Amino acid sequence: MAESRARVTGLRRVAAETLELTLVPLSPARFAFRAGQFVSLACGPDQAGKLQRRSYSLASPASSTDRATLLVKLVPDGHGSRYVAGLRPGDEVGFTGPMGFFVPALTHAGDVVFAVTGAGLAPVVPMLCELLARREPGRVVLHWGCRHEHELFYREWLEELATRTRLELTLHLSQPGPAWGGARGHINDAVVAEVGPGRDFFLCGGGEMVRDLTAALVAAGCDRKRQIHSEIFYPVRKVAT
Ligand SMILES: Cc1cc2nc3c(=O)[nH]c(=O)nc-3n(C[C@H](O)[C@H](O)[C@H](O)COP(=O)(O)OP(=O)(O)OC[C@H]3O[C@@H](n4cnc5c(N)ncnc54)[C@H](O)[C@@H]3O)c2cc1C
Repeated sequence: MAESRARVTGLRRVAAETLELTLVPLSPARFAFRAGQFVSLACGPDQAGKLQRRSYSLASPASSTDRATLLVKLVPDGHGSRYVAGLRPGDEVGFTGPMGFFVPALTHAGDVVFAVTGAGLAPVVPMLCELLARREPGRVVLHWGCRHEHELFYREWLEELATRTRLELTLHLSQPGPAWGGARGHINDAVVAEVGPGRDFFLCGGGEMVRDLTAALVAAGCDRKRQIHSEIFYPVRKVAT
């Protein structure tokens, strides 16, 4: 796949461990993508001199093709995390894509339920923009889980969106402070309670969450092939034996 180029125009910390990277396209001259797709960013060589790539979802509306944003969770000692954190406005980056099949259907007659954790919100941002602009009858439900308050980002935007659109938003924290007024614990039970005919589920986050929630949805009667769509950001951790 041909390498595309873009210029960094902004780098903003939107949460304790999350950076928002703003890019303008250089070649080709437009970001043409479907909501939910990702790019494979060239993140410089590793210690052996081998170019490392990391996938990052496009987190801005697909309708704005003259700029795009990425939301990058900074993982301790992560190669891609270190590369992105070291970028500055004016720097050029290379990438392949956009690509991927974690995208909304062209029409959704029924409810759409998003179940995401952490930076898994990134591909859902343009999907929400697209779905909420459509004249469709179904509910659009978002369950977003993080550990602490300081991991949340885009919260004001989401809450404001929920006041003026058909978005039904629930924020879940598994380790909240005493003042937290939202849901407590993991997202799984609330998502499984949404199971019903004609509903589409979009799951995004770590491998364990996607694996466990998929199993729970199927056990509750969900059709895995037709109703569950998922994107795994990082694989299930191997337990040392
Ligand atoms: C299709 C796709 C889209 C993706 N979109 C995004 C996105 O929009 N934003 C984003 O931040 N990431 C996204 N990811 C994950 C991203 O590609 C990297 O894997 C991740 O950012 C870690 O890369 P790194 O080089 O910093 O860490 P690495 O050097 O690759 O990993 C270091 C260690 O951290 C662990 N780890 C990796 N990610 C996490 C995490 N989120 N939380 C806790 N531990 C982790 C790894 O298992 C590994 O043990 C996406 C992945 C895929 C496959």
